[in-house]
Amino acid sequence: MRAVTPAIEATPGRGFGAEHGPVEDPPLKRALLRLVPAPRRQRLLGAVRGTIYRGEEVECPCCQSSFSRFLPHRGREQAKCPGCGSLERHRVLWLFLERETDLFERPGAMLHIAPEYALQRRLARLPGLRYVSGDIDSPLADHLIDVMDIPFAAAGFDFLICNHVLEHVEDDRRALAEIRRVLAPGGWAILMCPVDRRRATTLEDPTAMTPAERHRVFGQSDHVRLYGRDYVDRLTDAGFVVRAERYVEACESSSVARFGLRREDDAFGDEDVFFCVGSEDEEGRAQRSDSRPRRPARNAAA
Ligand SMILES: [Zn+2]
Repeated sequence: MRAVTPAIEATPGRGFGAEHGPVEDPPLKRALLRLVPAPRRQRLLGAVRGTIYRGEEVECPCCQSSFSRFLPHRGREQAKCPGCGSLERHRVLWLFLERETDLFERPGAMLHIAPEYALQRRLARLPGLRYVSGDIDSPLADHLIDVMDIPFAAAGFDFLICNHVLEHVEDDRRALAEIRRVLAPGGWAILMCPVDRRRATTLEDPTAMTPAERHRVFGQSDHVRLYGRDYVDRLTDAGFVVRAERYVEACESSSVARFGLRREDDAFGDEDVFFCVGSEDEEGRAQRSDSRPRRPARNAAA
């Protein structure tokens, strides 16, 4: 049964809206975005900013470059990489991939849904990885796909990344079933989402239809729900064994400063890593060989 909570319980005060920006970009920005295609725009911006912010003070694990500082983004200082545009959550995820998963240890196929440029630029070139990306309309994607109806055979992917997507999807349970279907035995999926930890149950309100209403209720104009602490239950219901972790808490202080990570307050779970496998056995195999004995507690983020 769907956990439906009335809109009147929308998070008041400093909600997700402040975190995720305005209802719509200004007209000039929208015009510029249309003029220069996304991959080229990212490369151009990265080249220019990388030169301006050349330095050794901070380091981006996603693009393996160092800079004098990270750039502000939506009110947050030290948030965005000048080179690849990575945000805190991309950088913490890259550290997780390197330190906690077997991604760099074995060949395989990856499906990256709604590809983020900061992750894609290195993943697509990784030796031994057959990289496939898909999105409903992103110019960064190899294939136009609907995550509720993924046009690939069952069990075709060893690794799957789908971040900050499910809160946009009309039927997230159907999307999760599809993700589960295309994942090979022994494979894993990372499914990060904005989670409001103050909420026990996910907020869904089918009457919030306009961008302004959705921004007010869910915190962003194109979100259709605001996940609560029961997000993990949805993943579990889809058949996953979930390791949910505030991975930034596992990173040493020097990494937090050097890699521009964010220690979030207790309310927001934008950067929690939700690592999903098909069974308990697979969970052990999917982790880096040298990290297997020291597996952190499951569902630590929930
Ligand atoms: Zn970078």
